[in-house]
Amino acid sequence: MGPENRNINEMRNAIFRIGFVMRLNRFFHHLDRISFFSINIWNFSYHSFFKEYARLFFFKVMVGYPLRTIRGLKKYRHFIKQKENLFFKYGQFLFITDEKAFLEKIKKQKIKPLVGLGFCLKPNNPENASFCPSGRANHDCLYLEKGQALQVCFYCSIYKISRKCLETGCDVYIMTSAKDIARDFLIPQVKDEKFPSAILLLCPYSIQAIIFPLLICGVDVFLMAYERGFCRDYREWRSADKGNKNEMTELSKESWKKIFDLLSESRDVNSQFQRFRREGNIFYPE
Ligand code: SF4
Repeated sequence: MGPENRNINEMRNAIFRIGFVMRLNRFFHHLDRISFFSINIWNFSYHSFFKEYARLFFFKVMVGYPLRTIRGLKKYRHFIKQKENLFFKYGQFLFITDEKAFLEKIKKQKIKPLVGLGFCLKPNNPENASFCPSGRANHDCLYLEKGQALQVCFYCSIYKISRKCLETGCDVYIMTSAKDIARDFLIPQVKDEKFPSAILLLCPYSIQAIIFPLLICGVDVFLMAYERGFCRDYREWRSADKGNKNEMTELSKESWKKIFDLLSESRDVNSQFQRFRREGNIFYPE
């Protein structure tokens, strides 16, 4: 076979491979659209195959706790059967499993909800040179670590929400990659029930992906979707997961009101907190 024929063959194979991947992508999107087997994360699972975060969760949680996984799958399918829980149909807020039960739990329990805030909320505006002094795709925050705040911090969502968390006694976690979320939050919960409830701020795409792991790990959770700047599909999400995300996410007015109301509900009037203490990547009020 001459070099020209070899090139044509290679090109044909490449086109065939691209076509095959595109057809698979469409196929899994279709399964999501019809909620096949009452599961709505077919496309995300297909993309996640062999990725480090999926391997970690699979071996440390699903294989380690098979009964929880089966129970989680049953709850997940039941949850998805209520159609309003499907992608983009739930609006900005989603409670797992329902708002009343969540409120009762956070009022009663001694361990206050963990508040998870995406690193994409950090200021990152080249136009007026406002950048987070602690850097972007990491778990760090000058205010949470040292109680200090620069001018830029006063406009930062993480600062505003963390101050309220200090008042109410809630732990704060700046979320970065899916692998870190599994390691810092989900695995400690499934092993030691460390974080039985949580309030998480995420993009709508991540919300769909995290429901199943949360149900396996038994976390009662309030999920709040960003209004602007969020990732729209797996490609954008994966890029942010690797730390490449320049857009700054923002909450709607309703979300601001909702999160402050919820945090006030969980307030323990007998406790006074002065500062945060960092353990691993979580900040605990003390
Ligand atoms: S409050 Fe924290 S996250 Fe926000 S800008 Fe300041 S250091 Fe960065």
